[in-house]
Amino acid sequence: MISKQLAKLAGRISWEKRDADEMIFGNYNDYLFSVLDGKGFKAFITPIAGIKPDDLAAIRIYLDQHEKELRLFNYEISDNFLCVRIKERLMPMSSDQIEAMLGHLSGILSLYDVPADTCIICGQETKTRGLFMALYCSLHAECKDKEMIDFTAGQASQPGTRDDEEQPDAGSELEPEAEVADTNEKRDEA
Ligand SMILES: [Zn+2]
Repeated sequence: MISKQLAKLAGRISWEKRDADEMIFGNYNDYLFSVLDGKGFKAFITPIAGIKPDDLAAIRIYLDQHEKELRLFNYEISDNFLCVRIKERLMPMSSDQIEAMLGHLSGILSLYDVPADTCIICGQETKTRGLFMALYCSLHAECKDKEMIDFTAGQASQPGTRDDEEQPDAGSELEPEAEVADTNEKRDEA
């Protein structure tokens, strides 16, 4: 069952509910999200197909630097999705807090130029939406059986450590130094 906080939010902002997956999904500020109940956290999952490597690196740095403020449990970037998990302690997040987080996350996606409406498989624009791996995203009908172009793979490789092939999850570990300079640049622009 979906928690009552998620159900309440879905009702208020006209999102869909899927009891079987304990999730709600819909559009927030033009970005697509699936929100799930976890044990001690809420998961916010959004497609980021078509994202540029620099923007993806900047989002990682943002999340790393705002871990405390966001009450981040952890985050994961793979298969063209960004999954941000927010801690819940004694009290579950209220529907207002969940909505505030959607506002915050969609703001980050917009700030870092994450394209909305790009197909989860090919990264090209489409207005067709659906569920892929039970997560809400844009998706060409004809792409469903094609191989995914993974915009989230290998972007974190530093010069001289390119071994994406053997380590598909290499992206989750970053060397901090070079990235920090990159974020500062982004911030100045913003
Ligand atoms: Zn496509």
